[in-house]
Amino acid sequence: MLNEFADIMNCDKGAEKTLEIPFHKPYITEDEVSEVLDSLRSGWITMGPKTIEFEKSFGEYIGTRNAVSMNSCTACLHLALKMIDLKEGDEVIVPAVTFTATAEVISYFRAVPVLVDVDSETCNIDAAKIEEKITERTKAIIPVHYGGQPCDMDEISVIAKRHNLAVIEDAAHAIPARYRGRRIGTIGDITCFSFYATKTLATGEGGMVTTENDEWAERMKILRLHGISKDAWKRYSKEGSWFYEVVDAGYKYNMTDIQAALGLAQLRKVEWMWRRRSEIAEIYTESFRGYQEISPPSVKPDRESAWHLYPISLNPEQFSGGRDIFIDSLKERGVSTSVHFIPLYRHPYYRNTFGFDAAEFPVSERIFASTISLPLYPGMADEEIRWVAESVAGVIGQFRV
Ligand SMILES: *Cc1c(COP(=O)(O)O)cnc(C)c1O
Repeated sequence: MLNEFADIMNCDKGAEKTLEIPFHKPYITEDEVSEVLDSLRSGWITMGPKTIEFEKSFGEYIGTRNAVSMNSCTACLHLALKMIDLKEGDEVIVPAVTFTATAEVISYFRAVPVLVDVDSETCNIDAAKIEEKITERTKAIIPVHYGGQPCDMDEISVIAKRHNLAVIEDAAHAIPARYRGRRIGTIGDITCFSFYATKTLATGEGGMVTTENDEWAERMKILRLHGISKDAWKRYSKEGSWFYEVVDAGYKYNMTDIQAALGLAQLRKVEWMWRRRSEIAEIYTESFRGYQEISPPSVKPDRESAWHLYPISLNPEQFSGGRDIFIDSLKERGVSTSVHFIPLYRHPYYRNTFGFDAAEFPVSERIFASTISLPLYPGMADEEIRWVAESVAGVIGQFRV
């Protein structure tokens, strides 16, 4: 009774002081603005010196031999699969819970995405369920570091080696993240990062692959710009030449200097932004400690999350409303949330094309029905972080069984 009363009091207090908290806001400061202005004023707005500088700085930050920029992580995943010579009818293993980009690139080759259920704690691909899905046609595994927490890379690498498969990491959420002391971007055969507007390092649109394979890096540099022979971007510069040769059927996947300018400014504060997100995650977790109704995300002790997402899961026995009611109630309190992700097998394209059956993915189904991502970005004010935490507590109180 006392509890109920307290919650009503909280609601009332909330009604007079509602903050509007968007799900995401990129962290853009004067530093980004002046880097972009610098590009605009220089007269060089497509791929050029800043793109090269960004690749160099990013590569050094990750600690990899090669960093090749592109206009999206999706483009990176596409060219990564080209490097392993994926063919029609081949199979590639991906987690059931991910963004469509991870799997759509497999369709580019008329190859087949093979879905594996995820781990209930981390929402990462369940390494123990990979081997039962491997066939003669399997060519690669694409682990996705969900929310920024690294997958079980040692287990995955052992399986890949045993079956002679490539490991292409979808690290769209994982700048910066570490697995057993190793930086994500230095483990798999190729790692693909995203600089999409909502990601932890944002250039609007953009992506980067890292690899220790020099030959692949050179080929991807050619393929990302029309298949034109080496350093094609220089042909309009002082030291460039008009002569070029098309050596492959390429793509228009290059980054621009305007994007790279944003990237350079973001990279200078990438560690600070990560510390701030970690701090916010800690505040959330601390303030949800007393509630049986929700489970905060947990990170395994041998790895560091990039904290791209802060997904909470609702415990159905202790909460009378469903996920959608929770989302709507938070929205009423001014807090925008999101769901990561609608599992691939639930989308008409994947269901109809590959005949996936939800019954095969019980953990993914459970996670989908109960998980909500809270706002988590470095620009959040202390008051906003508190407001999100209080709103979650308020909604729990409202629907407590
Ligand atoms: C955002 C995202 C991508 C795609 O990144 P783009 O840069 O937008 O192409 C791929 N995989 C996952 C898991 C993502 O969240």
